Amino acid sequence: MFFRTNKQSLREEYLDKLLADQNVHNYKHMNDVSLLMVFLSALMLLQHVYFPQKGELPEYARSYIFIYGSLIVLGIVFIISKAVIGRTKIRFPEIVKKRMMLLYLYLLSVFFVGLTYVDLHFTMDLSGFIIVILFLSTMIWQGALEFSLVSGFALLMLYLSFQLIAPYKQMQFQHYVQGLVYYALSMVLFRSLSGIRMENFLNRINLEGQYRMLETESATDPLTGLYNRRYMKEELQKELSRSERSGHCFSIVLLDMDHFKKINDSYGHVTGDEVLRELARILREAVRLSDKVFRFGGEEFLILLPDSKGEDAFTQAERIREKVENFPFTGLRRKTTISIGIAQSGEDCTLEYLIHQADKGLYTAKKKGRNRVVWLGETGVKGSCDED
Ligand code: GH3
Ligand code: MG
Ligand code: MG
Repeated sequence: MFFRTNKQSLREEYLDKLLADQNVHNYKHMNDVSLLMVFLSALMLLQHVYFPQKGELPEYARSYIFIYGSLIVLGIVFIISKAVIGRTKIRFPEIVKKRMMLLYLYLLSVFFVGLTYVDLHFTMDLSGFIIVILFLSTMIWQGALEFSLVSGFALLMLYLSFQLIAPYKQMQFQHYVQGLVYYALSMVLFRSLSGIRMENFLNRINLEGQYRMLETESATDPLTGLYNRRYMKEELQKELSRSERSGHCFSIVLLDMDHFKKINDSYGHVTGDEVLRELARILREAVRLSDKVFRFGGEEFLILLPDSKGEDAFTQAERIREKVENFPFTGLRRKTTISIGIAQSGEDCTLEYLIHQADKGLYTAKKKGRNRVVWLGETGVKGSCDED
């Protein structure tokens, strides 16, 4: 039972998404449906025009020609409208496409039930009705409400056809039963088809969700929620190749908490962890959207600043340093500070070299008395980056 309730809540959660997805899918495939409709109607039309009779066309043949002719015109009008909508620059909202499809379906139902009327009148069979009712359930609609509205409409038309031919033909109980049986069959078909589509959709959503979760888990540090060192290497490497291609340089900021061991010793590891989390939050809020913050390890963090020169990184780092200095960390009675080293990318520089430069800056900052930012100058092996 647990499984079932769990699934049902998912069902509700994703129903809207599924319907939107399904509408787009249905609309895309309407060309095949209407082309098939035009082709079949053309075949039937030819059969009634050319084959069965000599001389004057009988009354039923004229009715069939009218109905199949209308189905062809309707299909072609639909295909052309769809093409026009697809070609114009205006982006039509999904609801317009949906209404257009529904209108086409209603008109199809009307003609098919007209066909049923003619069939009933001359041969007492329900083939037109069966086609429309099964056709509705197999191809189009996902929403139960829309399906009931369109199929109920077809059922009503069938009933009216029965009433119309009642004066000429003896309607028997079995005809009503047949109509209802076909209708029930189409309901069952609709239920199972929409069930299958729903399952497929949920499976897809689940897989996507799991994949996304795995992806973020493998890239983040569990304590601070920042990106981890493994992901940092990938990102820095990417940034390095990007800057080589574009000629724009980027900078990194490497920071380390001052005397963090003392914090652990005086307040305990739990408070130490909380301080790290708070620092991570300060960093995340201090950087631009395009910047990335990584936990380098222990109480060391690295910030990647794309398209930034050392001077800009210096200003940014100085702001962060001040913020941390003035931040009232939970559970600490004294101020806590950070030391920062900066490096700017240059032509032909490697990832290791870049981090080494930043680390040298950090080491100098520590040696000079901590709570400061040090940039040792441009790193580029051959030259500096483009001026913009
Ligand atoms: P310095 O100013 O020279 O950087 O002094 P420091 O005390 O910060 O020196 P160091 O960088 O060597 O010490 C880092 C300490 O950070 C050591 C370790 O116990 C602590 N630490 C590393 N990771 C964690 C963590 O996840 N949680 C906590 N609470 N402490 C950590
Ligand atoms: Mg430290
Ligand atoms: Mg350290």
